[in-house]
Amino acid sequence: MSDPVLEAKGVAKVLGHGAGEVHALRGVDLSLHGGELTLLMGPSGSGKTTLLSVLGCMLAPTSGTVHVCGHPTENAGAERLAELRRNHIGFIFQSYHLFPTLTAAENIQLALDVRGEQGEKARARALDALARVGLSHKIKSYPREMSGGEQQRVAIARAIVSDPSAILADEPTAALDSENGQAIMGILADIAREPGRGVLVVTHDSRLSTFADRIHHIEDGRIVRVEENSARPENLRAAAGAPR
Ligand code: ADP
Ligand code: MG
Repeated sequence: MSDPVLEAKGVAKVLGHGAGEVHALRGVDLSLHGGELTLLMGPSGSGKTTLLSVLGCMLAPTSGTVHVCGHPTENAGAERLAELRRNHIGFIFQSYHLFPTLTAAENIQLALDVRGEQGEKARARALDALARVGLSHKIKSYPREMSGGEQQRVAIARAIVSDPSAILADEPTAALDSENGQAIMGILADIAREPGRGVLVVTHDSRLSTFADRIHHIEDGRIVRVEENSARPENLRAAAGAPR
């Protein structure tokens, strides 16, 4: 198997202070590999968002190590962490986080702008990302003119436009009806099939498990079970020795 795009080893995280201290993560090992869709499932408060934040270099672990595309994050300052995020990681959130005063295309271009990419080339990349989520007809639409499912597709386009190795999505379907939720997971699964890119999705919707290659179950800050989904057609082919 290829080297992981994201790897957590023995990660613990204490949040809050004094009497309010919470052991949100208690020694977590998790590897996200390119070409795979992994789900992180667990009850509310089990540490899912905390783990995603640590893997995404938004939060430093209290102990343990995180590697991003082989780069250690230990002792990395805020600027280095921001650089690793910018170069390697795309985020998707439950509530889309789009700028209401920017069109779909402009929201995506903004993600390139913060990386120093402007002009015609950036515009072309943004339009290409929108096409990949099936929204070429919404280039000039504002978030308020789009459904929740469409807004989340714009957010996915924004996450993939810089071609990151890891996509981290925190309950991306939680605000959507079942049909739109399934459509979003289908898009994320397609993105994960691209070699060299891994997608990690936090959810507590078990209907989404058919899309996953692997499911990590988290409870009370610990991974309690890892399920391999050998039933996915791609995995059956791989098991039979056929090229993926
Ligand atoms: P999940 O995403 O699985 O619902 P979280 O990772 O958000 O869980 O939270 C894990 C635990 O850490 C919960 O008990 C939560 O209340 C606690 N927690 C989250 N953020 C903070 C914080 N900033 N300060 C103190 N405790 C927190
Ligand atoms: Mg959460």
